[in-house]
Amino acid sequence: MFEKILIANRGEIALRVVRAAREMGVATVAVHSTADADAMHVRMADESICIGPAPGTQSYLSIPAIISACEITGAEAIHPGYGFLSENAAFVQVLEDHNITFIGPTAEHIRIMGDKITAKDTMKALGVPCVPGSDGGVPTFEDAQRVAAEIGYPVIIKATAGGGGRGMKLARTADELENAFRTARSEGKAAFGNDEVYIEKYLGTPRHIEVQVFGDGRGGAVHLGERDCSLQRRHQKVFEEAPGPSITPEQRAEIGRTCAEAVAKINYAGAGTIEFLYENGEFYFIEMNTRLQVEHPVTEAIFGVDLVREQIRVASGLPMSFGQDDLHINGHAIEVRINAEKLPNFSPSPGQITQYHAPGGLGVRMDSALYDGYRIPPYYDSLIGKLIVHGRDRQEALARLRRSLGELIVDGVETTIPLFRDLVEDPDVQAGDYTIHWLEHWLERTYG
Ligand code: ADP
Repeated sequence: MFEKILIANRGEIALRVVRAAREMGVATVAVHSTADADAMHVRMADESICIGPAPGTQSYLSIPAIISACEITGAEAIHPGYGFLSENAAFVQVLEDHNITFIGPTAEHIRIMGDKITAKDTMKALGVPCVPGSDGGVPTFEDAQRVAAEIGYPVIIKATAGGGGRGMKLARTADELENAFRTARSEGKAAFGNDEVYIEKYLGTPRHIEVQVFGDGRGGAVHLGERDCSLQRRHQKVFEEAPGPSITPEQRAEIGRTCAEAVAKINYAGAGTIEFLYENGEFYFIEMNTRLQVEHPVTEAIFGVDLVREQIRVASGLPMSFGQDDLHINGHAIEVRINAEKLPNFSPSPGQITQYHAPGGLGVRMDSALYDGYRIPPYYDSLIGKLIVHGRDRQEALARLRRSLGELIVDGVETTIPLFRDLVEDPDVQAGDYTIHWLEHWLERTYG
């Protein structure tokens, strides 16, 4: 086991990693920008080191600064959290060259999954069901016309290097194809330096279902069921739950086995998420995230495992502490993402917290780096906390969500807490009846 690890992140996820490491007897190094000197992850870690000025590009994304921090503090491994450098293959390559262990998969696996065409080809070859579409890249508009006519409209044009919803364009009819094709290409070029695009059938009413996998890097892998993350705004998840209300135990076992076998075949190491659109009983692969997800706690709640602990174990060379037969679902869990944002437009609302009170009691987990008097800096993501509730079934989890949202106090800044107080009362949410478009329509109806 490592003696000391460095956490190349901030906020609640940095704190999350500190907590797992401390329980394992592993010392932690927090890194921080000048804007985060007073942050909770800095206070809670065993050591801390400033790695640069406020903007992320000069601190949390600065590979030389992070490597130097490792060398100065003697940290043997780096946990990247999510976001920042967590899916940066070049970073992982540099760590490999410096003999610093990356707590995550290999640079090669990150590279494969970071390019959407390669990821899809790989998954298809591994037996994972994919959205019908072009066979690889579509170089010319004439090719696009031919492929779109074959698969049938509506279609979606996607930049192979795209991400965060950028470089993706819908063409409902043949008339819209040329514009969508050219726009997706130019967005791919402008945002990611790569204008290669491919085409997929557009699914009208899917749910977002993602399967949590975990590999030991030596051909062993398990799945930990699915999460339903259909409640999204602008492709950003806001409410996640596990298990998925629309998935049967048989479907779970089948898609889970397919995913675990796929990652086992490539000797995948650590936590990963295989994302699907799910429509009319069928799963369609869209992408794989080669890191811990924001919403991992709902899976932890229902399986009773610590995914970060497991990541650290496997990265240190130890075997996994559970096999597929040890994993059983217990109850239902829901997470809501609390952002420092002002409704109805979700505009960022940084500032000073004048009062913070976290909810508690049976089945309630609050992952947050907030404290009374904390000043939320304006430079980073607006996520300030995740409220996770766990109950014996979905109804109990919802009742616990309503109750704990009533206890939660975050004063001094605007937050998305009122959104969840409204959502939890909605009949469709209570019934678990929604697609990926449901929330956008609800927001329009509710807040105008
Ligand atoms: P990104 O990497 O930019 O997040 P994804 O491929 O994960 O892109 O897709 C993001 C979102 O776009 C999905 O969650 C879904 O809402 C929508 N989407 C992607 N592909 C399709 C498709 N074939 N049909 C319908 N919606 C899609």
